[in-house]
Amino acid sequence: MADIDIEHFNRVFESASPQEILIWAWETFAPLVAATSSFQSQSVPLLHMIGRYTPAMPVLFLDTGFHFPETLAFRDQLILTLGIRVRNLSATAPDDDARRRYKDLHRTDPDLCCYINKVEPLQRAKAGLRAWVTGIRRDQTEARHNTPIISMERDGRYKICPMATWADRDVWRYINKHDLPVHPLLQQGYMSIGCAPCTRPVVAGEDYRAGRWAGQDKTECGLHVEDEGVKRKA
Ligand code: SF4
Repeated sequence: MADIDIEHFNRVFESASPQEILIWAWETFAPLVAATSSFQSQSVPLLHMIGRYTPAMPVLFLDTGFHFPETLAFRDQLILTLGIRVRNLSATAPDDDARRRYKDLHRTDPDLCCYINKVEPLQRAKAGLRAWVTGIRRDQTEARHNTPIISMERDGRYKICPMATWADRDVWRYINKHDLPVHPLLQQGYMSIGCAPCTRPVVAGEDYRAGRWAGQDKTECGLHVEDEGVKRKA
């Protein structure tokens, strides 16, 4: 398969809908393309589009072992209602010694914890793929402000972000229009949800991601940062 002209498609897709970009990604790279999802409320529009337009596209979920039970239940609910094909990914099974050493890793070294439980399992799953689809958006964090719709990672794989140009209001408009479910912890103030030890609810006036790794400099798990400091090995 020939390389694609990234600059050209980034220009064209700047005014395209996420659905158009998603369908193009499937038609261009299938079967060597998969999506990733954290199964939050914000994830629902892309998952709904996958179920409707590209149902054979696998959805990868990083099952870190630290998720809220509500997140796992929400994942299972969406599998049933949206008709998506989900593959759970997890860290390589640790031996007893590693289990002891890593018990409090999310507190003592969260970057390493994210590397072991998220970055490395996803790297393994992506081996053999030509492209991956992710639902990140430019309005989510400062680090994501310049997210291109298509880019190429260091290892030569295309990263496709169909939702990049959407704002938070577009997400909620879509959820309301299609009468889609939201994460059960949303009503308790969990506006952005990751692993339970690293997520707290937000209060009025806070940024919606303020509850992620609260009190730390960390704002990203490392999946979307091509930075050796975050991706270092265990
Ligand atoms: S979000 Fe927290 S618990 Fe989850 S992998 Fe990262 S550091 Fe570990």
